[in-house]
Amino acid sequence: VTFGDLGLDDRLLRGLAKLNFTKPTPVQAKSIPLALAGKDILAKARTGSGKTAAFMLPLIHKILSVKDALPANSPETAATRGLVLVPTVELAEQVTAFTNNILLFCGRAVSVLNIAGKQNEKVQQPLLATQPDIIIATPSRILAQLKMKAVDLKTHFQTLVIDEADLVCNYDYEEDVKELLTFLPKIYQSFLMSATLGDDVDSLKQLVLRSPAVLKM
Ligand code: AMP
Repeated sequence: VTFGDLGLDDRLLRGLAKLNFTKPTPVQAKSIPLALAGKDILAKARTGSGKTAAFMLPLIHKILSVKDALPANSPETAATRGLVLVPTVELAEQVTAFTNNILLFCGRAVSVLNIAGKQNEKVQQPLLATQPDIIIATPSRILAQLKMKAVDLKTHFQTLVIDEADLVCNYDYEEDVKELLTFLPKIYQSFLMSATLGDDVDSLKQLVLRSPAVLKM
């Protein structure tokens, strides 16, 4: 299999070529076609497996196809469509770096904002008010901003990712996740990526996944 076989947007294929990603990893080869077909994904995947691209490429692909279909200057252009929840600031930075690298090839069509860092919440609010296409955050950070009505995740939202879900649970973020789900619409696509798929991630699975494809690498 090549990335071209998986049905991804040409802009993403060009980005992947520039990054020297010549061949999808197993988790990417399985996840991407299922995700593009609209399935929720539960993947047992550790760091190094290529898990970031496995969720981020379909997430960006869907945003590109929606935005391509909008008329120029449509008010719907500025809308947050993807949220990636991570347990740590370090992982947020890694996911953001990969996303920015790929987005270099998408001609400014898609924006990403990482709010996981130590930056003051007030400083982040003007950035959130622009409704970036993709937000990367820890559960506590995005929940705090949602409570302050700094950003809308209800109107055009498409995709929720929980990356390193086992650590999200270890860090006791489950209550925050549960509460922030009340700020999302009823229907969206979910990815849950985890190094382990034991009882520890059961509660998150119940909360966010609907008949997921289960990928065990
Ligand atoms: P991840 O598991 O997402 O943290 O990715 C691990 C590392 O592998 C990162 O440095 C990625 O940039 C790299 N990587 C991911 N997918 C591919 C691929 N298909 N080909 C080459 N490198 C990749």
